[in-house]
Amino acid sequence: GAVIGILGGGQLGRMLSVAASRLGFKTCIFEPGGDCPASHVSNFHFQKPYEDEDALRQFAGAVDVVTYEFENIPTSALDVLEEARPIRPGREALRVSQDRLTEKEFLTGLGLRTAPYADITDLPSLEAALEEMGTPAILKTRRFGYDGKGQVRINDASEAEAALAEMQGAPAILEGFVAFSHEVSVIGARGVDGQVACFDPGENVHRDGILHTTSVPAKLSTAQRTDAVLLAGRILNALDYVGVMGVELFVTREGLIVNEIAPRVHNSGHWTQQGCAVDQFEQHIRAVAGWPLGDGSRYADVVMENLIGDDMDRVPDIAGEAGASLHLYGKAEAKPGRKMGHVNRVGRAD
Ligand code: ATP
Ligand code: MG
Ligand code: MG
Repeated sequence: GAVIGILGGGQLGRMLSVAASRLGFKTCIFEPGGDCPASHVSNFHFQKPYEDEDALRQFAGAVDVVTYEFENIPTSALDVLEEARPIRPGREALRVSQDRLTEKEFLTGLGLRTAPYADITDLPSLEAALEEMGTPAILKTRRFGYDGKGQVRINDASEAEAALAEMQGAPAILEGFVAFSHEVSVIGARGVDGQVACFDPGENVHRDGILHTTSVPAKLSTAQRTDAVLLAGRILNALDYVGVMGVELFVTREGLIVNEIAPRVHNSGHWTQQGCAVDQFEQHIRAVAGWPLGDGSRYADVVMENLIGDDMDRVPDIAGEAGASLHLYGKAEAKPGRKMGHVNRVGRAD
């Protein structure tokens, strides 16, 4: 049987492994950490650093295709892997999404709307951008940010110097503040043959910079829903993409604005586990394995709630709730801000 290689051993890797196993695949993860969520459910684990080129070559030799659960894989590791096996989604999706500036340039190049943005290299460039964009604005590191980390809101131009200091010398971009009414995301998929399918958009609520809930159906007009799905398809096609992608959108009166894209399964797609015959994890495995995409049409209303840190104390109660499906990641320690699991609460179909 075929073996799916997965870079990264977190909860996304874990749920990808479970989905792969259900389709009869074996999985092999590459993850420097030891007792990680995916290691509990994968067949093989290369516990080596991404700088270990021999280990990467062995890993590639042990799998049929390489995919990943996070986008910050070092370029040098990808170079080694690419010589031996297909990487899906491909290098271009990673190149574009590893850097917020490259990503914004790609999106605007496609004719899609993003927040106004500027490359920030020093204090004068930040001051000039603030002058042009006005406040509030958000200064973000170009790389490695997640869960709202590496970003700072600037409410007044006088805060420029302090905000720049928080970037600790890392390359940054300034984004104009988008006055959105709410946030939604599209989880899209594209197969090896170019077939595209999107899940119903979900409505996302963040708390302290971290996704708190995703609800389907999202508050969207028919036109907005069509728009959201079509723009996701445009992104997938432009990248000749293979796999599942998350596209985060701001909903405004003037239309949809793309916040960011993630070249992988996405936290805001976890509702599909209880809302669709084929969820985002199976859809991703199907795509990277060269299978036809599955039926991702939504048959239920779902609210996905992330269980973060102390939320784990509520697990015994949630376990007794009618209509609640629990997904726990097997992480040993519940630290503040750490994603420990999620619960999908299923309602009637609409
Ligand atoms: P993720 O965990 O989704 O990868 P991230 O750290 O990459 O998060 P962003 O998605 O850029 O961060 O921003 C996190 C949240 O902050 C957004 O979902 C949105 O609520 C708010 N936000 C970010 N950029 C803007 C903006 N330009 N205007 C208004 N709100 C914003
Ligand atoms: Mg992000
Ligand atoms: Mg985001």
